[in-house]
Amino acid sequence: MSYDRIVVFGSIVQDLVSYTDRFPRPGESVRGNDFKSGSGGKGANQAVAAARLGANVAMIGLVGEDMFGDSNIKGLTENGVDTSCVGKTKESHTATATITVNKEAENSIVVTLGANLLLTPEVADANSSIISNSKMVMCQGEIDEKGNRRAFEIARKNKVITFLNPAPGDPNMDKTILDLVDIICTNENEAEFITGIPQNNVEDAKKAALEMVKMGPKHAIITLGAKGVLLASKGQNEIEHISVDKVEAIDTTGAGDCFCGTFAAHHVAGVSMIDAIRSAAKIAALSVTRHGTQSSYWKLDEIKEKHPDFLP
Ligand code: ATP
Repeated sequence: MSYDRIVVFGSIVQDLVSYTDRFPRPGESVRGNDFKSGSGGKGANQAVAAARLGANVAMIGLVGEDMFGDSNIKGLTENGVDTSCVGKTKESHTATATITVNKEAENSIVVTLGANLLLTPEVADANSSIISNSKMVMCQGEIDEKGNRRAFEIARKNKVITFLNPAPGDPNMDKTILDLVDIICTNENEAEFITGIPQNNVEDAKKAALEMVKMGPKHAIITLGAKGVLLASKGQNEIEHISVDKVEAIDTTGAGDCFCGTFAAHHVAGVSMIDAIRSAAKIAALSVTRHGTQSSYWKLDEIKEKHPDFLP
């Protein structure tokens, strides 16, 4: 039994990333300048970000019986994530994300979810003991929401903190899941899907953050890219706006996941909401200065050496 453990119930995806000057138009083929493959998936990314910060992290997920499945499990293990609850299925393939990054460092992504779609309520039930003996369960919007709901139901019954990052954002999301959520973390797009409040500026995001805490969660966090992060909390009318120093982004893929995992690592270690967010925002900013997703996340030792002031 481990009372400081984070358990991530979520997606594992093989990222296939092409770097090109500009996105191809329909029917057009453009030449890429570079190619990298790596482990991804919002669940796995958040698990790795938290583990790289030194947290005790276990992953519940599914991959296919294929080479991407093996390499993703190996990658998680090498990053210190407990993969004993990551299953292999014959019924589908390991998920893939075909990512194109243009020279403005914007990305365009096609995700084929494969085995992640088999992460059902039954899988949550089969892993109920690890969920109920953890401190926090993290879910994202990349798998079947019924699976997320069951993971949260198990967590709630056992006083485990529930964290939802509803990325990549589904306009048809069943919002009743928010009754089971302690902390919700979105970007501006996802905040718009959830609240229906169009997002054009920071004032709109503040309205959405306040609205989200009315919908169930105790805390609503909205990440705003280089504009920093907002925090709204139940019972408080004031919204905190945590700013970050803008950095020159090389590849923003997975910055939101880096933020979520880093925040979670601090939160289970007992750091205050505001200090955890401040640090996670700075550490997520470091990740956009490097190529890749998980590979762009800084490890605790490196942060201690080069940016000790970024830690709480
Ligand atoms: P993605 O979907 O690409 O993972 P996201 O939209 O979920 O990203 P963002 O809000 O873009 O997430 O970024 C998350 C955090 O990363 C921000 O709150 C901020 O702390 C940091 N960040 C991202 N881009 C920059 C930047 N150019 N300069 C400084 N910090 C940044």
